[in-house]
Amino acid sequence: MSASAETAILKTSHLLGIEGLSIEEIVGLLDLADTYVALNRAAEKKSALLKGRTLINLFFEASTRTQSSFELAGKRLGADVLNMSVRTSSVTKGETLLDTAATLNAMRPDILVVRHYDSGAAELLARKLDCSVVNAGDGSHEHPTQALLDALTIRRRRGSFEGLIVAICGDVLHSRVARSNIHLLAKLGARVRLIAPKTLLPSDAERFGVEIFTDMRKGLAGVDIVMMLRLQLERMTGAFVPSTREYFRFYGLDREKLALAKPGALVMHPGPMNRGVEIDSTVADDIEVSLIQEQVEMGVAMRMAVLDALARGLARGGRNT
Ligand code: ASP
Repeated sequence: MSASAETAILKTSHLLGIEGLSIEEIVGLLDLADTYVALNRAAEKKSALLKGRTLINLFFEASTRTQSSFELAGKRLGADVLNMSVRTSSVTKGETLLDTAATLNAMRPDILVVRHYDSGAAELLARKLDCSVVNAGDGSHEHPTQALLDALTIRRRRGSFEGLIVAICGDVLHSRVARSNIHLLAKLGARVRLIAPKTLLPSDAERFGVEIFTDMRKGLAGVDIVMMLRLQLERMTGAFVPSTREYFRFYGLDREKLALAKPGALVMHPGPMNRGVEIDSTVADDIEVSLIQEQVEMGVAMRMAVLDALARGLARGGRNT
């Protein structure tokens, strides 16, 4: 596959969030990712598209799916991939984000994939560095590739977003996945509902143009897709829920609550899951309704599409010097 000479998909040389993307850019990435799903299902999964390019994964927060799928995506496209482990780097000696990134930048990577606990970290790096920057999650702000892979999963199952009702349930307040999905689903024509206790909803949730429910049983009525969120205890500074047991009773997705959604409704979760807190294993592991493993598969394909799209920009203009 040689995409470098093909048309541009992204207008900028970075992927920082969904908010700034046009519908055409999003659909372009979804279409491209579909081709990578097919490649990943073939015996020979390797392309030389990014041969000679260097990709650095710089993760300041824990990650299983995102980091490994960017690594696999880069390798399947032929790039040299470096995983920078913050736990063993000079960050633990007090080096700042910008100093660390400037050091890596001097090694002339083409693409830097960054996850950081501060909202806006990826954007800051994009302004300071001369490689392409991909936001792999910045605080509770955005996680664009998660929303894109979720959209790919939904589109492959349901064909289109028009008229689809998607409920995003749980810890919306701390979730970058929720924010990116709200932007993306609205752009593609889906109806979004947020279902959460008041304490876990942003105070300005209405501005997203979504329907809001604090009663999960009422909120699930007529829903096509139930997207569960992890209770992000590491971002909580006080008591946001009385107890995880209580939380499960009112907001945990189990068979009984799922039965209130539209017949045939599908369940998603970005992972990692807190079983018995926001989701019950009987739902999470039921392949008839759960898309959770499919989301992981789509994650590799979507990250390949994103790297491909950025590589087209590199082929046009070289590094952003
Ligand atoms: N893995 C996702 C993220 O990094 C969701 C989560 O951690 O709950 O935002």
